[in-house]
Amino acid sequence: MRIIFATTNEGKITEVNELINSANFELVSLNSIKNKDIPDVEETGGTFLENALLKARTYFAILNEPIIADDSGLVVPALNNEPGIFSARYAGANATYEENNSLLLKKMSSIPVGKRGAFFQSVMVYKDQFQEKIFEGKCYGRIVKKAVGRNGFGYDPLFYYDPLQKTFAQLKLEEKNEISHRGKAVKALILSLKNHNK
Ligand code: IMP
Repeated sequence: MRIIFATTNEGKITEVNELINSANFELVSLNSIKNKDIPDVEETGGTFLENALLKARTYFAILNEPIIADDSGLVVPALNNEPGIFSARYAGANATYEENNSLLLKKMSSIPVGKRGAFFQSVMVYKDQFQEKIFEGKCYGRIVKKAVGRNGFGYDPLFYYDPLQKTFAQLKLEEKNEISHRGKAVKALILSLKNHNK
């Protein structure tokens, strides 16, 4: 079965692809079907769930094929839950990962080690002609004071995961998928699809 992942974010595509492929589904991203003149969906929702639903429904209406849409981000309680749904555009509309990370470090410069807890959250919607289902994953860690590691994407170099004593950017793809917010959501989605297709 072919599923379209409604994103152009290469970091997300790599992670989800690894899990979906090993479950024997075929994942196709918006990057690889660009010739269809597909519009960008603006994330106008006020929550991860609203944005994920918006993307899943809009792209399903256009493409009429099974869709996965994920809205995700980093939540820092000490910063009033910033950057949250604004994670991708924290430092501005077209901000780079480096710019977002610098802004986060700057805003957290006076926050002591014990109050730097944070979590990643992923809300993932699967939609086809029969069902619309929501899956969620969270992963708890803390924000370090200086970027460490080169793997992954986004805030990974700043997100320290205590059980492995590494930042997400120091983990291999399979290691991150094992424990990450997105990994948890995708695994629940795969289980649901397998049960549905029995
Ligand atoms: P979205 O495309 O609107 O869901 O934005 C997701 C943004 O949240 C990304 O651009 C990253 O800044 C951040 N983010 C989400 N998941 C991760 C992750 O696994 N690692 C690092 N950053 C992430």
